Parts: sequence; C-alpha cells; structure tokens
Amino acid sequence: MPNPTELQRRLANKLRKNVLQALLIMTAVAGVGFGVLNIRLNSWPLAMAEFGMSAYSLLLLYRLRGLESLQRVALLFLVPFFSVMMFALWVPGTSVTIFGWVLIIPIISHLLLGRHIGLAMSVLYMAIAAVLFWYRFQLSLEFTDPRSAANVAVIALCVLALSHVYELSRERSEQHLANTARTDFLTALDNRLGFSESFERERKRAQRSGHPLALVLMDLDHFKRINDRYGHDRGDTVLAHVAQQMAQRLRDTDALARLGGEEFGVLLANTDRRQALSVAQALCQAVASHPVEAGGQAIAVTLSAGVAMLGADGNDLASLYAAADKRLYQAKDAGRNRVQADSPPLSA
Ligand code: GH3
Ligand code: MG
Ligand code: MG
Repeated sequence: MPNPTELQRRLANKLRKNVLQALLIMTAVAGVGFGVLNIRLNSWPLAMAEFGMSAYSLLLLYRLRGLESLQRVALLFLVPFFSVMMFALWVPGTSVTIFGWVLIIPIISHLLLGRHIGLAMSVLYMAIAAVLFWYRFQLSLEFTDPRSAANVAVIALCVLALSHVYELSRERSEQHLANTARTDFLTALDNRLGFSESFERERKRAQRSGHPLALVLMDLDHFKRINDRYGHDRGDTVLAHVAQQMAQRLRDTDALARLGGEEFGVLLANTDRRQALSVAQALCQAVASHPVEAGGQAIAVTLSAGVAMLGADGNDLASLYAAADKRLYQAKDAGRNRVQADSPPLSA
C-alpha cells in the first residue's frame, strides 16, 4: 500500500479530533455523576478517581484546541481513562454490570488510535479486564451460570472484531478517496495536489541529502489547434497518449503530473540543470517523434518546456513554478518544440 498522503492524515485527524472532543466532554460529565453516586455509596477511592478523571478530561479538552498531532493526546486520555476503568472493575463491592464498560474499549481505541495501536490497546486492557472479571466471578454469586460468563466473553470479542473490521474498511475507503483526490482521471497521473505532495517530499529529501532537484514544466504546443481540428475527444486521447509517452521515459523516482489542461510537470530527483535539460529534451523528442493514432489519423504533437532548480531558482513550489513557467514561455517564443533550462542573460 502507498504511504498515507498528507490529505489522508488530515482527514483522519479531523475525524479523531471530533471523536476525542465528544469523549472528553462525556467523560467530564459522567465522571462527576459517578463520583457523586460513589460518595453516596461511601466508595471514596473510586469517587476520587472519577472526579480526577473528570477534571483531567477538561484539561485535555482545553489542550486539544489548535493541536495538530492527536495521537499523543489520545494516548494521554485513554491510558488513565482505561486505568480508572480497571480500578473500578477491581474495587470489591461495585456492581458487576460495571463490566459493560469494557465493551467501549475496542470501539474508542480503534476510533482514536487507528487499527494497529487501537488493536494493541484493546487487547491489553481487555485482557486485564478478563483477569479482573475472572477474579470477581470467583467471588461473586451473581454468575452461577457459566453461560453468563461465556456471553460476556463472546460479546466482548464480537465488539473487538467489529471495531477492527470497521476501522480497517474506514482506513481503506479513506485511502481510496485520498488517492482519487490526488489523481488526474484522464491520464491517471498525479494532479496538482499530488504533485505538490511529491514536491514537499522531494524537497525535504534533497535538502537533507544536498542532492539537486529539478522541476520541468511542459506545455503542449498549439493544442487549441488540435482540439479545433480533431475535436475535444481526440484532444483528450492525445493528452493521455503524451502522458504515457513521457511516463515510459522517466525513472520510477521521477514524479510526473498533469498540472492543468495541457500542462505537465515533472520532478527530477538527484538531477542537475544540465541533466534536467537533456531529460526534458528527450521527452520533447519522444513526444514529437510519436504521433498519436486516433480515429485512423496520425496526430503530430510537440511540447515546449522550462526548467527550474531548487535553491538557485527558489525554495518553494510557487517560486520554482514561476521560474520554470517564465522559461517555458521563452521556449515558446523561441519557436516551440524546445527546452529552456536557464534564463538568457538580461542583455539578450
Ligand atoms: P501554446 O503553444 O502557446 O501553448 O498554444 P496552445 O493552443 O496550446 O495554448 P492555449 O493555452 O491557448 O490552449 C490550450 C488549450 O488546451 C485550450 C483548451 O481548449 C485545451 N484544453 C485544456 N484542457 C483540456 C482537456 O482536458 N482536454 C482537451 N481536449 N483540451 C484541453
Ligand atoms: Mg499549450
Ligand atoms: Mg497551456
């Protein structure tokens, strides 16, 4: 499976933040309610734990605002929350129905921590709960029928399995949506969003390693004429064909994308300006020498390109794009079907 995209991470964070907020509010309220009830029943240690959990939830709720990474706060909440729950299960004299609470462990663990850590957390606390249950079961007269114990165990396992399967399919559909959002449907290349994610990844890598990173911007020449002459559908076929031609000639590590209408971008990792020029020229040549067969006609197409280098031409995508775009238009002005890798001297 591909790495989770930035978009996917943001989607998951937003969902988890909403769940965590609701949970913190419920814990704050329920903590006070159960605390009062336990004072009335003279169960002071448990009441104190519940009041403490309630105050702690309010504190986390306050901390949660404006926070980017949720996992840490989720763990800071779940570990004490489940520990108080285990304490309540252990305190003799509480109602055995308190074991009903164990069923929410897998649900909220998976919702807040995802399927891996969520599963680990659920198994850990449910195992502790099972030991405590066994201990209480031995002492209590409430469960004389072994079927009652079997019921509890089976229900708990079902909730665990369902939570896990739910989270697995949620993650998969989220990943599918995120992939769709970063893919261009006509060419199946990355779109602008995918390209900007690739750029961030490659920029970090290049700046860490000190290797050069080149951006090549390409635009089909006189594409309007192709549309006018052969129709928009053939125009689409040409776009898909050109994308395929270019993808075939690039390395797996090069990130090719369709950035808009008939404009493409490619990030060349570990490639200096001179090498980028020759890669871009090879792409131009490949496209120019492979006319597209569409509807029994061979449609000739060429492209022009501009190159920009990370560092020399800027350090963010917008500046590199602007520099490459300027050179692209210089290539167009100079007659098209060519690459401009460097700005000509000002006097030129
Ligand atoms: P130049 O060489 O200066 O780039 O000329 P051009 O005709 O390619 O440039 P211009 O920007 O004037 O026209 C681009 C055309 O691309 C206009 C638009 O109809 C066409 N186009 C944009 N997106 C699509 C698309 O998805 N499918 C098709 N078939 N055409 C598209
Ligand atoms: Mg064009
Ligand atoms: Mg254009």
